Order: sequence, then C-alpha cells, then structure tokens
Amino acid sequence: MKRRTGQDQSITRHWRPATQAVRGGTARSEFGETSEALFLTSGYAYDCAGDAAARFAGEQAGMTYSRLQNPTVEMLEQRIALLEGAEACRTMATGMAAMTAALLCQLESGDHIVAGRAAFGSCRWLTDTLLPKFGIETTIVDARDADQFADATKANTKLYFFETPANPTMDVVDLRAVCGMARERGVRTLVDNAFATPALQRPMEYGADITAYSATKMMDGQGRVLAGAVCGTEDFITNTLLPFTRNTGPTLSAFNAWVVLKGLETLDLRIRRQSENALKVGTFLEGRVPQILHPGLASHPQHTLAMSQMDMAGCIFAIILDGGRTQAHGLLDALRLIDISNNIGDSRSLMTHPSSTTHAGLAEEKRVEMGVTEGMLRLNVGLEDPQDLIDDLDQALRTVGL
Ligand SMILES: *Cc1c(COP(=O)(O)O)cnc(C)c1O
Repeated sequence: MKRRTGQDQSITRHWRPATQAVRGGTARSEFGETSEALFLTSGYAYDCAGDAAARFAGEQAGMTYSRLQNPTVEMLEQRIALLEGAEACRTMATGMAAMTAALLCQLESGDHIVAGRAAFGSCRWLTDTLLPKFGIETTIVDARDADQFADATKANTKLYFFETPANPTMDVVDLRAVCGMARERGVRTLVDNAFATPALQRPMEYGADITAYSATKMMDGQGRVLAGAVCGTEDFITNTLLPFTRNTGPTLSAFNAWVVLKGLETLDLRIRRQSENALKVGTFLEGRVPQILHPGLASHPQHTLAMSQMDMAGCIFAIILDGGRTQAHGLLDALRLIDISNNIGDSRSLMTHPSSTTHAGLAEEKRVEMGVTEGMLRLNVGLEDPQDLIDDLDQALRTVGL
C-alpha cells in the first residue's frame, strides 16, 4: 500500500483557507509524522557524483543547499501560497528582508515607484533613503486617495507599494481601485499585508500582483520568531525574485519556518478572536479618548471601504491623546497588564508610542506627513479576556486625567 507522504495538489488546491492553514503544503517523511518535521540541515548528500551534477544543472529534482531549498521551509512556502491563493511564495529571514527583496529584485536605476505615506518606519527608509541611492525615485502619496497613485504615475513608473491597513495610522487603501489603475497603466502592485494576513484580506482577489509579509506578526502570532514572505506568480517568483534571493541569501531558518508552520495552524482562530477583542476594547476607548483610529469602528472615515475588503478589522489600532508625549508616556507607565512593547500580532496585548519608538528614526516632518503625532499610541489587542484589558486601560486613563 502506498503511504501518503506527499499531497495531491489537484485535491489540496481546493481546500478552504482554514483547512490550508492546518494542512496546506504538508510533506511527510517516510515515518509518516502527523506534525511537520523539522529538517535542521545545511546540506544534502547525493547517491553519486552524476546526481550532484544533474541537480546543479536543474535536470534532477531535489535539494542542494539550505540557502536555496529546505524541506521544512518549502512546506511553509506552499502553505502560505495556498492560503494567499498565489501561484508561489518564498519566505525570508524577516519581514524587512521580504520587503527589500521584493523591491530590489524588480527595480533598477532610472525606475520610479509610488508609495503610500503611512508605512512601517523601515519601509519608509527603503523608499526614501535606500532606493534613491541606486537611482530609483519614489513619489510618496496619501494612499487613502486612490487618484493620487494615478496622478503620480510617470512613463518610468514600475511599481505601487503600500500597506493596508497601514502602520500606525490605520489608513486604508482601496485595493480594487488602486490595483485596477495599476493594471491599466502596466504598473505592478506590491501590497504589505502584515496587519490583515490572508485570513482576513486577500489582495490578489482585487488584482494585486505581489503580496509581502512580516510573518513575525500574526502568522507566528505568539511573539517568538522573525520571518517574512513574498507571494506572486510562478513566473515572478522563479524568474525575478529567486535570482536575487538565492545569491543574496536572506533565507529563513528551518527552525523559524517550523515555528511559523505551528503558528499558522491557529491563525484563523487567533486573528478572529483578537479582532473581536480589539473591537470591544476600541468601543470602550471611543468614549474616553479624543480620537481613535480603528477601521472596525463606524467613526473611522474609511470604515465602509475597510469592511468591504476585509473579513474583520484586525487587532491593531491607534488612539490620539491631546496631551502629547507627556500624557501618552504617562498612560503607558500606568499600565499593569498590557505590556509596553513595540511588537504587534502577538497573542499578548501590547502598546507603544510610535513617535518615540517604531517611527523615531524618521525626521519630524516625515512623521507629521504620515500622521504620527506625539499624542498617538498604538495598541495590539491580544487573546486575554477583553474585560481585563478594559479594566487596565480604565485605571491607566484615570491616572492621566481621562
Ligand atoms: C513589522 C512589519 C514589517 C517588518 O517586519 P520584520 O519581521 O520586523 O522585519 C514590515 N511591514 C509591516 C506592516 C510590519 O508591521
């Protein structure tokens, strides 16, 4: 009897996302283990010299070196591709390695890109500082206004790059409108989908060409490892991304891939519960703070758009206090349960002051342009009982006079 070691893609392709998150990409060894095996190996042995030569020539299937292939890493890549509904995926050591590779693999001197103003601080460093060093010009636009992408497009524009929802202002980008305009103009789209993950939002269904992830966030989801991923067509991944990554080496370790595989098994459960909790905490805060930026609340100016392209609003949002840095730091220092931490996508509730942490590396005027003010605090709502989080925030708000 044949053992079920591999998966029959003609069957597995049709599984729904929650099933993919648990089983997609599983390749069993001869031992038939139920949980994915962890292959901690840098190299592979060949039966004969001719096999080694054939593998290097691409004439024989098989692995050659873990910078290029690893069975545990490949399981994760297939699982993410299946979840995303993408033809292919490659993982990277971190989210920033994924963003850097996704940009540099396809751009060259003389190219132009259009990028959203609100972005993870290091993504803004890539577009504003790194790319210009190589002769690649960036125009920054307010991505909430889809027309700004069209207006900024030039003859040499190759790419639109944005996050939605964006860190930390929760700007929402109209995926259908912006990806549609890109297609019409022969421009590619690269969407940083870290906040929503494919469990809540699948940009490719709206015409996005490439999605990129910090898998450190919701995909691991328990604050353990760093990881990144890029998804796209088989042609883009094989012929554009792979030549760059195979030779520059931002490879994900097998151990970290294995941890993310375990994280994905509970992604759907976690992100839905955390979204529910974030809505409860956000509803409480709405009556207590001057401003809240939460796409799941009707008060968010892009609430209708957000809910038309996301299944749920996710677990991250921001509040803005009137008392600047002093009041914001005061509130953080009064917390007893929620941790002061700049990570997100964790099962623990975490809170940070972006302008003095995640976005501190940017010039003051860039922070103002992005909407990152001194009174802003970003909250990642975890899996704790939301009433305990509300109680903690209630006493911390009272400490700072709110
Ligand atoms: C965290 C994050 C990144 C960077 O990911 P790392 O895994 O920390 O390198 C990029 N984009 C967004 C939206 C993020 O939240």
